[in-house]
Amino acid sequence: MKTNWFSLRMRAVRCGRHLSGAERIDRAAAIPGLTAQLTERALTHAGGMPDQVHCTVEPLAAAEILHAALPGISGWQVADWMAGRLLAGRLLTEAGVSVKAAQHGFKWLAEGPAPDGGPMRGAMLIDAESGQRLEPDRYRGVRVSRMDVLPETRAIIQRALDAGGLGHHRVLEALVLAGKVLSAKGLVAELCWSDAADYLTGYVAAPGFGYQRVTPLKEAGDQHGGRVLFVDARNWDRAEFITFLEQRPVLLHGVPEIQPARLWRA
Ligand code: AMP
Repeated sequence: MKTNWFSLRMRAVRCGRHLSGAERIDRAAAIPGLTAQLTERALTHAGGMPDQVHCTVEPLAAAEILHAALPGISGWQVADWMAGRLLAGRLLTEAGVSVKAAQHGFKWLAEGPAPDGGPMRGAMLIDAESGQRLEPDRYRGVRVSRMDVLPETRAIIQRALDAGGLGHHRVLEALVLAGKVLSAKGLVAELCWSDAADYLTGYVAAPGFGYQRVTPLKEAGDQHGGRVLFVDARNWDRAEFITFLEQRPVLLHGVPEIQPARLWRA
């Protein structure tokens, strides 16, 4: 049977700056309803009324879609953001990132990763051994796109997240992004904390241990944050890696295993 899949991407702009964004992959019949949902989300964003909302709908060839499993989720509660970074550093080295590269990642996220100290639209690429920055554009970074959960599994995945106290849409979106990132060839680990001043949970994800949330990973009120993709740059094709993350459609499936959050003391 021929299945007609589409990528739907919403991007809202206010005063020339990115305000909000979201994306989905679904079959043709679902696209009008989803476009309305994402547009409503843009129009009711806490950051204010956008000047422009762009929705892009693009057909996908079914054969082009990669299917991958959602990573398992675990969580850590720590005393403060400094303990959070210590733990995140340990998780990164466990995943194969050198201490030097991890320190560079923390420094750039904490200072604001773009050359002017501002946030980036996408992620930094850092050599997991040397700690060097590898993304071609340090303002934009690498924007991971064209990924979603398999539509028929969305409700059951959301119920599992709700039951685990992880129902906020940010969690599923970050999990989907991490799921795509973890299937990229050459990826060693991902580190993320938001640039939103009031969202203090961050995470480390790696192929060996899934998606590990750390609360808190930043101080309340801090507007610096972003994403780092640590890569094994030996025998690595940067163009292929970026094309995979930006262009290749990926559908994630499976209800993730959720481990209850544990306390961690340094
Ligand atoms: P958020 O978790 O949405 O608060 O995003 C935190 C940071 O992650 C942003 O400031 C961007 O630097 C980065 N980021 C957000 N979305 C993406 C994406 N789709 N691909 C790569 N990096 C992203």
